[in-house]
Amino acid sequence: MPAEHVPDRAELRKRVQPRSAFPLPADPDRLVAAIAIDGSRLTERVRDGLPSVVYGYAQTAAAYVDLGAMETQRAERFVDPHALDKAVNSALVSFDLPCAGAYERVGLDITTSWRHAIDRIFRSKRVEVNNLNKTLLDLLMLLHGTPGSQAARVPVNCPHDGCREEDVPVAAAAAAPTGQPCPSCGHALFTTDVLRVHEEVVEEGTNESALSRLMSVAELLVLVGLATLLWDQHRRDLLPSTLFIVDGPLAMYGPPAKLRKRALDYFQAMASTTPGPGPFVVGVEKTGATVDYARALVRNGVLEPGDLLTVDTYVLSYVTNTSSVSAYGKETYWGRKFIYRSMDGRVLVPTVVPATGAPYDTTGGLPDPASYPTLAATLDVFDRTGSSMYQDGIIPVALAHGKAAFPIGVGTDVLRLVARHKLGMVRSPFPAT
Ligand SMILES: [Zn+2]
Repeated sequence: MPAEHVPDRAELRKRVQPRSAFPLPADPDRLVAAIAIDGSRLTERVRDGLPSVVYGYAQTAAAYVDLGAMETQRAERFVDPHALDKAVNSALVSFDLPCAGAYERVGLDITTSWRHAIDRIFRSKRVEVNNLNKTLLDLLMLLHGTPGSQAARVPVNCPHDGCREEDVPVAAAAAAPTGQPCPSCGHALFTTDVLRVHEEVVEEGTNESALSRLMSVAELLVLVGLATLLWDQHRRDLLPSTLFIVDGPLAMYGPPAKLRKRALDYFQAMASTTPGPGPFVVGVEKTGATVDYARALVRNGVLEPGDLLTVDTYVLSYVTNTSSVSAYGKETYWGRKFIYRSMDGRVLVPTVVPATGAPYDTTGGLPDPASYPTLAATLDVFDRTGSSMYQDGIIPVALAHGKAAFPIGVGTDVLRLVARHKLGMVRSPFPAT
């Protein structure tokens, strides 16, 4: 039975609210800017004769879009990419590491090599924009603290074979190779072990899923960094008038899933100290069961333009094709899903952060739109940023994606050459740096 089977129309309509139930904010309160965040990753087999040697790249881009300038362009018959580009400022964090069949240095197994690589990346890669100049490690400590105040330590489970030590407080300074000794086994613990990305690393395989987790973490940290920058320096003007849009749901899957709770706590703490309902943070899901289901609802005429569908237990049981949805999302999501059909007919699956409380829990969580004071202004931005250029797209996300995506063809050849150079497999065509 296809998951997108559409259930009882009358039952669904009870869960629909029209756009008019979320009145437009008064003009001075409408959001004037959007910051979209998107990441992409790529793995390359380094040389044809060595198919097991895989090198990985990932990057995360943030695009700041002036919504006023963008709307002026939309009003034109054809969008001028150059004018649109001028309305956008972007920032980028990129990193690379040996994923499989190659190692950070001599004598490390693949899991340890990943732990060393993540430590290196988090110490050296910075989000540099305006007055924000923080390493990924700084941002990780911030996420484990409160807005404006980094945690001094994070709880780490010892990754060494046979050791069961859990939640060891590890300071931000515990760097590879020496780290901080585990109180039980004495082996080195690194601050970034808190992410547990290494738990997904395997001896045989390309480790693309681990790279994907690492990229999701980087996306979240870029969001944390930029939101905190506005919270710190523009709490009364820019922060309450900017929508942060993450490409993908507000969720963290796999071993780093515990960051879900950190993210929820962090942004709720920020909301309690920001004037108005902000900060405005939304994730937009582009693929997956809920998106397929949402499109099926539109095809079947269930959702009109401007309709917002509450995704409660009833709807979730159809999306997931099971009656036991009580645990759905509670370990992974830090926002709640809705299904929205924009005024120009696009289908969007946003996830939105509740002002207080958990979006999902074992008793059904918070499906009611009333728990989401940022929703009205967010839907308003969705309605203002549609584009026929992208199916069910929103312009800021498309722009961020354009900045984050790796160019195909020549671009990947260059990355492969760089990987061979970094692994010492080729005489460098580039001057040594
Ligand atoms: Zn240990």
